[in-house]
Amino acid sequence: MTIPANSSGTALVAGGAGFLGSYLCERLIAEGWRVICVDNLHTGTLENLDDLSRESRFSLIEADITKPLPDRLHVDRIYNLACPVSPPHYQADPVHTLLTNVPGMRNLLELARTSEARILQTSTSEVYGDPAQHPQTEAYWGNVNPTGVRACYDEGKRAAETLCFDYKRRHGVSVRVARVFNTYGPRMRPDDGRIVSNLVVQAMAICGKPLTIYGSGEQTRSFCYVTDLIEGLSRLIALDQEIDMPVNLGNPEEFSINELAALVSAMTGSTSEVN
Ligand code: UDP
Repeated sequence: MTIPANSSGTALVAGGAGFLGSYLCERLIAEGWRVICVDNLHTGTLENLDDLSRESRFSLIEADITKPLPDRLHVDRIYNLACPVSPPHYQADPVHTLLTNVPGMRNLLELARTSEARILQTSTSEVYGDPAQHPQTEAYWGNVNPTGVRACYDEGKRAAETLCFDYKRRHGVSVRVARVFNTYGPRMRPDDGRIVSNLVVQAMAICGKPLTIYGSGEQTRSFCYVTDLIEGLSRLIALDQEIDMPVNLGNPEEFSINELAALVSAMTGSTSEVN
């Protein structure tokens, strides 16, 4: 797709050094924005920013969104992708994960309010918890355990959604909330811990490691390619019409874990056993 390089203004991408964030920064630079990436580099990496670091319109502020943002920032658009996403990473420091999701979101919403900027929050399909409804539409309120080990992430993201819509009602901030479903592509961390990177890393290991399939492998998930997801985020924030609810973003087609394992084996020529 050809991207028009005619945008002007400044976009702040919190979590811009992460997997999704780095693609988003590249897209915004290609569209003509000045991009400020704010990242604490906990799960994001400087390597993800290799190409961007040569761009004069790109800058990195190494900072944590749970702390006050630098004074005198004035931006036109804000994207919040600042949170570890995979369970091993967000559970490593659950208190910090919750603080990233709630006070971190508030700091960005305050910046949106004072800058009169439009803000996009990347929420998650995890807000549906252990869903009693399939597939989950945006009208479904979910089924989340508020005290479990995933709560720092899924309850945190739910509270962040609450903050977004309260800032919209209370302060007139223009918010967009995307509930992101499973996304994959180059630059996922090999130690991400989720299914796509696990299978690919196992299949590509020298001598091939067994592909770990938990349970029967008949459980299904949808997998969205990273640039398709970025396209969805870009279209969502570009809509001038106000949207009073979150929007699910991902691939609508479901695949079983067994189908995914077969595909990874075929594409890598792996001789790994399936465990
Ligand atoms: N899974 C698996 N092997 C792995 C990692 C995950 O079989 O090495 C399964 C997991 O039990 C779940 C599905 O694949 O049913 C997707 O897991 P993932 O952790 O990627 O994300 P989730 O959608 O569950 O958050």
